[in-house]
Order: sequence, then C-alpha cells, then structure tokens
Amino acid sequence: SLEQGPEGPETPIQVVLRVRPMSAAELRRGQQSVLHCSGTRTLQVSPPGGGPEVAFRFGAVLDGARTQEDVFRACGVRRLGELALRGFSCTVFTFGQTGSGKTYTLTGPPPQGEGVPVPPSLAGIMQRTFAWLLDRVQHLGAPVTLRASYLEIYNEQVRDLLSLGSPRPLPVRWNKTRGFYVEQLRVVEFGSLEALMELLQMGLSRRRSSAHTLNQASSRSHALLTLYISRQAAQQMPPVEPGEPPLGGKLCFVDLAGSEKVAATGSRGELMLEANSINRSLLALGHCISLLLDPQRKQSHIPFRDSKLTKLLADSLGGRGVTLMVACVSPSAQCLPETLSTLRYASRAQ
Ligand code: ADP
Ligand code: MG
Repeated sequence: SLEQGPEGPETPIQVVLRVRPMSAAELRRGQQSVLHCSGTRTLQVSPPGGGPEVAFRFGAVLDGARTQEDVFRACGVRRLGELALRGFSCTVFTFGQTGSGKTYTLTGPPPQGEGVPVPPSLAGIMQRTFAWLLDRVQHLGAPVTLRASYLEIYNEQVRDLLSLGSPRPLPVRWNKTRGFYVEQLRVVEFGSLEALMELLQMGLSRRRSSAHTLNQASSRSHALLTLYISRQAAQQMPPVEPGEPPLGGKLCFVDLAGSEKVAATGSRGELMLEANSINRSLLALGHCISLLLDPQRKQSHIPFRDSKLTKLLADSLGGRGVTLMVACVSPSAQCLPETLSTLRYASRAQ
C-alpha cells in the first residue's frame, strides 16, 4: 500500500516516480499525455503515432491526480526520519528535467505574491517532514539537538544559503570522525518548526533571487538542506570546528539540477555522459550510483571524491543510510525524449 512506502528488497536507492499534471500551457498547445499509471507501481509509456508501449516499474508511481500528501506518504519519508533519529544518514533527492516538478515536490509552489501564503495542502515533502520531525522529537521525551544547514552547489562551488555575510565559495573538507563537510558553513540550531520554516524560506528566497537565476542557469544548481539530529543536549556534545557537522543522524533534502544535460544510455551499470555536459556533480552522482548497484562490485572503490555533491552525499549513498530518489516527469508528448532518459536513469538506480 502507499502508506508503507516503497516496497521490495532493500536496495541502496529507493525510487518513486511522480508524473506532474499537464500544465495550462501544455493543454493550451493541445499536447497529448503519453504516460499512464497502471496500478500503483507501473508506468506505461505510449509513444505518439502508435509505437510499441513501454512499461517501467518503480517502488511507487504517482500520476498527476496525486496530492502532495499522497506523495509524502508514498515516499515513506517518516521511515527515513526514524532512521535519522537512530543515527543514520538519509537523503531524499528529486531528479528530472527542468520543469518536471522537482522543486514543487520538495517545497511546494512559490508564493503567488508578497504576503500571500501558500496553502498548507500544497506544502512539499520538506515542510511535511519538518512538521513530522518536530512533533516526533517533542514526544520522545529525551534531549534531541536539531540543527540545519542549507547550501547550493553551482559550477562546483558551494554557496551558503544561510550565510550572514556576503556569500563566498566554501571548501569541502574531510576528517575521520565526520567524513566530508563544508568548512565555515553556517549550521544553525533550531528549537521550533517556525524557526526551521524561516531557515527554509531564507534559503528559498535567496535561491530565487541569486544572480545565476537571472541568467537562466538556476536549473544547473543543486540545493541541499541538511538536518542534523543529535540525541543529546548540545552542551554535552564534543566541540566542533566551524561548519563541521555534529555527530549523529542526518536527513538531507536535495533539489538536483535539471537532468537534461545527462544522457543515460547503455545497459545497467553504464551511465554515459553527454560530451558537452558541464554539470560535473550530476554526472558523478550517476557514476557513483551505477557502481554502487553493480553486482560485480565487492569492495571496489566508489569515486565519491569526483564532485562536491557526491562528497556531501557519500555517507548516505555509501551504506550508513537510505537514499530515496523521487524521479519527476512531465506527461506531455513533447517532453518524451527527456522523460525516457529520466525513466531509464531512475529504473537503473533501483
Ligand atoms: P523543476 O524544479 O523540476 O524545474 P518546478 O517544480 O519548478 O520544476 O515545476 C515546474 C512548474 O510546474 C511550476 O510552475 C510548478 O508550480 C508546476 N508544478 C510542478 N508539479 C506540479 C504538480 N504536481 N501540481 C501542480 N503544479 C505543478
Ligand atoms: Mg526547480
């Protein structure tokens, strides 16, 4: 059932597919929908012109009629939250071409104007997880320290979305106890849902107004919001360097760059790179995932060091956690080539 989240044997990555509704513009142009759900786990693709149908299976498939609440439940994010409370590193990321609904799925639609609130029913996976987590922590009856950071990776440079001063690129470091982390990143302790929502809004509005958004390149940046969960009072924890993550569980939400530059071809285990692609992090992620899934792999080396994104996701991809991929697609015939590339990439990741 949807309530249980993705089923099946434990795989390093669980994949949920979300088909967004046709947009008003797509409907106006008379575009056809070429995607149909069959049951809760199968997507049927009917190419225009009557070519052979193709089917893809995922942990869950959600069509355009599904609400944000349906998506939250189907993703089983509460289970990831429970694991994070037990000290694991868990990640939820959205993957798909620009315009496929990645940002909407994670954070809901942008506000329609100054002071116009987004209805709670449209809140995304992130806001819903935040509310669940704060409620869960309140009922635990044991000390839990919560912190958050929010950053953007653009052209392999890390930018702090919560920085107090003017942001400058921050280096990614590694140490034995904490693994990879961003030096000097602002990691903010918070005690209430309202405080966390404010951090989210601060990062979201900085993302929307940043210089590269204006020159149409926002689809090439990744945004990572990380919650650090330590099951002890802050004053009992070992001291950390600025930006070093505290020890404990992690829950990371990643709004990935648009996948349109990454062509996934070949058989399972082979993710090809498009020659002119410039998104090193997205390519490195595909490469790491394909190696993690390779049945021939024993203790072989996974090249997490190849990009900033894979460094920061190494602990959740590499074993101490669960990774959930929400693949997002448009139903429109016009998007079919990119949709097929997303579907292949996503089905190979599970
Ligand atoms: P991406 O982040 O993948 O580029 P967006 O999340 O910005 O895509 O979505 C593109 C457009 O479609 C936005 O206007 C968004 O509000 C809308 N949209 C996406 N998914 C849905 C959905 N499930 N229901 C209604 N509107 C959606
Ligand atoms: Mg987006």
